[in-house]
Amino acid sequence: MLVKDYQLDIISPPCKPGAERWNAIAHLSDDISAVLPYLNATLRDCIYDHQSGVLTWQRGGRRIVIRPKEIAVTNLEDREDAWKVVESLVKTINETWERRADIEPDYRKRERLKALDIYKLLPGTNCKACGEPSCFAFALKVTVGEADIERCAPLFTDGYQRQWDELQALVKAAPG
Ligand code: SF4
Repeated sequence: MLVKDYQLDIISPPCKPGAERWNAIAHLSDDISAVLPYLNATLRDCIYDHQSGVLTWQRGGRRIVIRPKEIAVTNLEDREDAWKVVESLVKTINETWERRADIEPDYRKRERLKALDIYKLLPGTNCKACGEPSCFAFALKVTVGEADIERCAPLFTDGYQRQWDELQALVKAAPG
């Protein structure tokens, strides 16, 4: 077991209308740096920076930041939710650590796909062959994982090899 104990600070929402969400920080008893590359390899959509030892993750509308001795979570419903979410994260960390022999650790720094970066590499003809009304609409869907670049048939015609290679590299380097 990697995380044996932690102390949880639950931060109540500020006294202003519309700000009723809670935040929490778990101060861990043990340094969990070693598990971060394994989490990076297994958690869908996480962003990891090995150099600074920070992994961020969006899950169920919450932002989660995992550092060597800390787990911070935003957008919680109440105290009970804070305990439940942090317990579940600690469980995920410990289970990932137990399974590490079967996981290839991933030390890469990955960044989210940006629609504009995708769009710049598409043919830009708005031909709708992908089923989307425009190339930009298609690019937006690619960034959120709702469309695969293979759906853009014109990319497989003459003259688009470089764009295809760059798109593949972008998608490969992104989290998820
Ligand atoms: S198939 Fe390709 S070129 Fe045509 S609209 Fe879709 S993304 Fe643009």
